[in-house]
Amino acid sequence: MNLAQRASRFLSRYTDRRLLPLRGEVGVVSFSFDDAPMSACVAGAAALERHGVRGTFYVAGGLTDGVEEGLACHSEAALRRLLADGHQLGCHSFSHVHVNRIDAARRREEFERSAAFLAGLGVARETLDFAYPFGGVNVGAKHDCALRFRSSRATGGGTHVGVADLNALRTHRLYRAEPDGVSYADRLAVAASQRGWLVVNTHEVQDDAGPFGCTPGALSQAVAQALEAGCRVMTVGAALDHWTARAG
Ligand SMILES: [Zn+2]
Repeated sequence: MNLAQRASRFLSRYTDRRLLPLRGEVGVVSFSFDDAPMSACVAGAAALERHGVRGTFYVAGGLTDGVEEGLACHSEAALRRLLADGHQLGCHSFSHVHVNRIDAARRREEFERSAAFLAGLGVARETLDFAYPFGGVNVGAKHDCALRFRSSRATGGGTHVGVADLNALRTHRLYRAEPDGVSYADRLAVAASQRGWLVVNTHEVQDDAGPFGCTPGALSQAVAQALEAGCRVMTVGAALDHWTARAG
């Protein structure tokens, strides 16, 4: 990133904010999977279902039946199965592009193709939740996403306490490489004690996960810890409904 790109990324923290108050009886944890690799659709979903909870899968339709970063991506059948089992499908652009590196017209095209793809699976166009591919957010991308999506999720940044910016939701990256310097356990403790919202994101879920994924065991343990801490575990969409109902 050059200096102008860095500045725009930094400034986007303060632009187009849509603040949702977080007033609840308990903390909430949402598990999300970027790109929806096949392993996330199968082993990731199973790890959540074992605990009776569901997750959010951010899908780039253009990756369907493809290979991304050496990993088998979702099939359409796998996505349909996720929906049927009560998971949520969100938008991750269609072509899996850095939406902060394309112009507004290209972004609109990406969002429309993605919405059409998801609508074909039965996902409502009006309540789409988005995740910035590669966590790439800047002022322009955030503005366009704010106009189009119910929520837009970045990567990293930690637990929301008291309020969340729906146009740049933060996460804990549950990656094998642990890039955040703050542990999941610490961020979960904040969510539980301050009745906040922790969104977790990862990619593939397999025993030989790469640096941006995790093992089925680590995921299952993270879900168990959240429930043991007294948090509710729900999809990003369900969490938004949950917080919105309590915000008024
Ligand atoms: Zn991605």
